[in-house]
Amino acid sequence: MTQTPTPPLPTQLFIDGAFVPGEGEVERVLNPATGALLANVPEASSDQLHKAVSAAHRAFESWSETTPMERARLLLKLADAIEARGEEFARLESLNCGKPYARALGDEIPAVADCFRFFAGAARTLHGPLAGEYLAGHTSMIRRDPVGVVGSIAPWNYPLMMAAWKTAPALAAGNTVVIKPSEQTPLTTLLLAQVAADLFPKGVLNVVCGRGGTVGQPLVEHPKVAMVSLTGDVSTGRKILQAASGTLKRTHLELGGKAPVIVFDDADLAAVVEGLRVFGYYNAGQDCTAACRVYAGGKVYDKLVADLTSSVKGIKVGTQDEPDVEIGPLISDRQRNRVASFVERAQMAGHMEITTGGKAFGGPAGGGFFYEPTVIAGARQEDEIVKREVFGPVVSVTRFNDVDQAVAWANDSDYGLASSVWTQDVGRAMKVAKRLQYGCTWINTHFMLVNEMPHGGLKSSGYGKDMSLYALEDYTVPRHVMVRL
Ligand code: NAD
Repeated sequence: MTQTPTPPLPTQLFIDGAFVPGEGEVERVLNPATGALLANVPEASSDQLHKAVSAAHRAFESWSETTPMERARLLLKLADAIEARGEEFARLESLNCGKPYARALGDEIPAVADCFRFFAGAARTLHGPLAGEYLAGHTSMIRRDPVGVVGSIAPWNYPLMMAAWKTAPALAAGNTVVIKPSEQTPLTTLLLAQVAADLFPKGVLNVVCGRGGTVGQPLVEHPKVAMVSLTGDVSTGRKILQAASGTLKRTHLELGGKAPVIVFDDADLAAVVEGLRVFGYYNAGQDCTAACRVYAGGKVYDKLVADLTSSVKGIKVGTQDEPDVEIGPLISDRQRNRVASFVERAQMAGHMEITTGGKAFGGPAGGGFFYEPTVIAGARQEDEIVKREVFGPVVSVTRFNDVDQAVAWANDSDYGLASSVWTQDVGRAMKVAKRLQYGCTWINTHFMLVNEMPHGGLKSSGYGKDMSLYALEDYTVPRHVMVRL
């Protein structure tokens, strides 16, 4: 059974070091496993948004003057504080997203704390070209300076982790931040503000809640915001680019994905099936890197479909605290309808077979936005289910004839975020990895991320990197200083 949250849940915005109720329209924040109301969170008014940006702008003057050591010290304390309240963060995240509590606690909280720790260290180790006399009688050097106020806009699938990916490199580099969580999942970002409030000078981090149109867009358009970072849908990325064009802001876009998984005939099939069961359905498939588009070699196709189907049938779907629960519901009824409509259209096409799943269902109390883990066999390259991001627990399987066809089909996508290759032939794996047009290619695994390595896409999946030193570079500006001797 889902535990009742301990009231009061965080609902107040965090502006200029103070917690204030939003003055805009009220957003109903739900528990997706039951459909019940968790909290009413009023969004920021335009005046409050302006105050948050102005506070960040004022704070930038002194925060950007702090040394990397000082910033690192605070980021390390923040990581410790998140860990110390890890159960509280995990409880809120799992309630607000419907995630299994054990997964939120065991997988996400350590990754979030580690993200802040990584950037605490990274802030102190940025390298650049050597200063030198590239023109006779002149010494040139490179500086990497913070950009200014960063407006960060986050999605609902991993709210706290996305807040960490966005705020950690930005703050480490000496920027100040106004972050807007998704209107559906603001709770852990608001709790993060409570933890950060005791550590950071006022105005360095601000949290404003609200919808994309009413709060997100004005944040992007605000003249004092120097850079905008979005993790979200491709269509939102386009809107943000348009809104940012007026003030020619820097943008950092992490958008959708449709990860191809190429399984060669010599792959370790048991490992592939086990991998797909986890990496295709984790977080109910609401993951931009989900292993959702499988291409299987002719000799393994039938066995892969059969074994995957029986494995996926065994995935335990349930509410946050059910014993052994593996995945929870989708985030909303709307998202579930969207997923269901993709599967219905695949069914109607006639040539595909839903070998397991394909139905919506309610939780134990009748509410909740659950959808069965689904396998669709016999998908063709031109099918919608192969081309478009579903963002739900649905994996398609397509048969390929040879390596060139597999690579061509994998690359025949608007997206370019993540991909994987499964084979026991190291040479083939490396050759295929080189040809794949994706920000990440895993070999004989999928989905695994580490804070030292970059995460980000090509093509419509956006640009800009999260995690790693590349993210720190993205949140700084390289500048040339030349001295005449
Ligand atoms: P979304 O694009 O609907 O919303 C993302 C955020 O943008 C929300 O905070 C929303 O309020 C805001 N927003 C919406 N319209 C806006 C506008 N006009 N101006 C400013 N802000 C606006 O995405 P979502 O449904 O919350 O999340 C799912 C999407 O995110 C999927 O497409 C998924 O692939 C993508 N995603 C990508 C990554 C990645 O790293 N590439 C990670 C997670 C999710």
